Amino acid sequence: MKDSATVVIVGSGMGGSTLAWGLARRGIDVLVLERGDYLPRERENWSPEAVFVERRYKPDETWVDDDGQDFRPGVHYLVGGNTKVYGASLPRLRERDFERTDYPSGVSPAWPFSYADLEPYYSQAESLYRVHGTSGEDPTEPWRSQPYPYPALGHEPYVQETVLRIEQQGLHPSRTSMGVDLQPGGACIRCSTCDGFPCRLGAKSDAETCALGPAMMGGHVRLLTGVRIDRIETGAGDRVIAVTGERNGEPVEITGGSFVLAGGAANSAAMLLRSTSDRWPGGVANSTDLVGRNYMVHNNTHIAAIDPRRANDVVFQKTVAVNDYYHDAGDGIPGGTIQLIGKVQGSMMKTHATRAPLAVLNRMAGRSIEWLVMTEDTPSPDNRVRVNRDGRIQVSWQRTNYDRHELLLGKAKRMLKDAGYIGVFEQRFGIDMNSHMCGTVRAGLDPTQSVLDEHCRSHEVSNLFVVDSSFFPSSGAQNPALTIGAQALRVAAEVNWN
Ligand SMILES: Cc1cc2nc3c(=O)[nH]c(=O)nc-3n(C[C@H](O)[C@H](O)[C@H](O)COP(=O)(O)OP(=O)(O)OC[C@H]3O[C@@H](n4cnc5c(N)ncnc54)[C@H](O)[C@@H]3O)c2cc1C
Repeated sequence: MKDSATVVIVGSGMGGSTLAWGLARRGIDVLVLERGDYLPRERENWSPEAVFVERRYKPDETWVDDDGQDFRPGVHYLVGGNTKVYGASLPRLRERDFERTDYPSGVSPAWPFSYADLEPYYSQAESLYRVHGTSGEDPTEPWRSQPYPYPALGHEPYVQETVLRIEQQGLHPSRTSMGVDLQPGGACIRCSTCDGFPCRLGAKSDAETCALGPAMMGGHVRLLTGVRIDRIETGAGDRVIAVTGERNGEPVEITGGSFVLAGGAANSAAMLLRSTSDRWPGGVANSTDLVGRNYMVHNNTHIAAIDPRRANDVVFQKTVAVNDYYHDAGDGIPGGTIQLIGKVQGSMMKTHATRAPLAVLNRMAGRSIEWLVMTEDTPSPDNRVRVNRDGRIQVSWQRTNYDRHELLLGKAKRMLKDAGYIGVFEQRFGIDMNSHMCGTVRAGLDPTQSVLDEHCRSHEVSNLFVVDSSFFPSSGAQNPALTIGAQALRVAAEVNWN
């Protein structure tokens, strides 16, 4: 199969779909190539067993670690990518996240552009992704030129009571920035199956619903599903001529003017690394040997705080973030964020508490409240994505900057004990819990230290771009999707695509 377009985008997740939306507004002819298919709307969308235990919407694919152990990565090959199941928590990074931070055991490098450069596009992305939020509650919130497009979600009584107990400690819990369709007449019903589940009602602000679908209605954007791109072809030169791969076992060759990889941080790097040739022995755009390196995932831990005296009857739990330690964890050095996640059900705990009886897990879930503690990991060249001899993705990963994580985890546990919780259980994220992966095709001003420029264009191959989480020079400590979307809108608007 052969096709062609002015701009060819590989991958329809947060980066690819949002870029397609931005290009459609400029009337540019776009072809999106997506290896997955549309996620079916079906009863299983909201089944914890189907989604978490049977992993119904994950590919069968396994990646391999340095010890040769296979693992199932946190990827979803679907129209809309990982956003089809994401938690739709859409905060901005803070101004200081774009600047260099020196940690006791690592450096978070500066970005090639500032918060001010991205700010107009954050506003645009918040509007596109229907973000509900409020200003004035979070002491670390960055300045904004536009108010939130929709008011913040309110707390349910159990959460409100917990918020009061946290406020009594002098902390400032704030309402989470959420991308859901909750305005009057909107489709969101505030159900318990949002975070980690597909939305059966189309009420979650995922990339298909908010960006790709609307972009395709304008007539400039086409989508081919089931197309897996394997190689980027440059011939003997320094421009991409075509991307090649397969669809249903048949070869695919797509030509075009500009080519954008948006396959997510592992797959975009893998596409470049697989594309070796006499001109590019280490893979396309990889003279620096930086492609695949500096893989980051955030340092994350889920904690469940239990108070056997208080039944948690919440339906939509994900409404609070505590950012008091974001810039200063008590020693003048940044900590990170502590935020509620969607209500965990007993059957969801089965994925790691495999031997515990379901009835016990359900009883625990009925008395617990669950949080995510997120801190920044720092880039290391040894943390990297490679393609092994069998063509599979291999991930080398050691935790970095983890002392900051231990510190914030301790503060989160203290906060919850002081709020009356008797027990706090933790689940630290391992190599397979890489849903926040980023950094493998980093952007920067210096072509010897980065692969992409500030508009995600390859320093070496002028019609090649990577517009997904791969470009992040550092990971910050906020959920990444809004920043990926905002940068995609910036790239769409500021690059000359003709
Ligand atoms: C359970 C879960 C919860 C999350 N919650 C949040 C949250 O609340 N807030 C937040 O900010 N982030 C959240 N995230 C993370 C967020 O979803 C990702 O950061 C974001 O989607 C990454 O965008 P991306 O464009 O880099 O990649 P993706 O969105 O993963 O898109 C990549 C796309 O490329 C396609 N693709 C890959 N390789 C190829 C190829 N070779 N050929 C063709 N197509 C290809 C894939 O199928 C996919 O559609 C969550 C993720 C998960 C899994």
